[in-house]
Amino acid sequence: MQPELKIYSYSFNELDINIGLIEEAMGYGRGQSPEPFPDMIAHALGQCDQLCNIQGSLLVSGNFSVDKTGSFLIEGVTFNVGKKIARQLRNADGGALFICTAGAGIGERSKELMAAGDLIEGYILDVIGSVTVEAAIDKIQNSFESELNKFGNKIANRYSPGYCGWALSEQKQFFALFPENQCGIKLSDSCLMDPIKSVSGVIGFGTNVKKTAYECQMCELETCIYRKIRLAKAK
Ligand code: SF4
Repeated sequence: MQPELKIYSYSFNELDINIGLIEEAMGYGRGQSPEPFPDMIAHALGQCDQLCNIQGSLLVSGNFSVDKTGSFLIEGVTFNVGKKIARQLRNADGGALFICTAGAGIGERSKELMAAGDLIEGYILDVIGSVTVEAAIDKIQNSFESELNKFGNKIANRYSPGYCGWALSEQKQFFALFPENQCGIKLSDSCLMDPIKSVSGVIGFGTNVKKTAYECQMCELETCIYRKIRLAKAK
């Protein structure tokens, strides 16, 4: 059976991103950032519907199996994801590969501001870009999960190349499974995504899988951009 390609797009305003969420991503509590941050964040948020072009895609396949020693096979391609991810996926009947982007505009504007010396404005837009792409993939995942639940299926945690033991270099074979330029995302030679505010990864699904707490508390990757987000969601 052919894999199914699902396509999603959202406006920035549909994602309900507010000042509190950005404060949290900046390391403050909600409503706790000092002046002039709240006004600056509000001003930046007001520009984001124009700056963002939010798109996502899922490649959903039942042609999927897991070797619990550290890999999964989807559409004939093996991904060496390590034991941590393989353990999470081991009971999945299928896998959905995802890509999602906030678009090029927000990252470019952030860089322009920084180059012009407006470091705080640039930083705030950079943070909003990261929160946007995470909110968009959350929305896609929730929509996919609701669809699956109707048929008694559930989803496992989502995982991305470059994190939790999955090498970033596997992005090349990952993107080769999608149509070229899907969602306007391209890979650099070093396997980074362009636009920069983009994410990719896998969600396992089936009757016998479940979401569990991420193992961020015990992980050694101190610089992981997901650590704060995952730990905040676990509270
Ligand atoms: S900190 Fe958490 S999300 Fe990041 S690599 Fe470690 S386990 Fe994965």
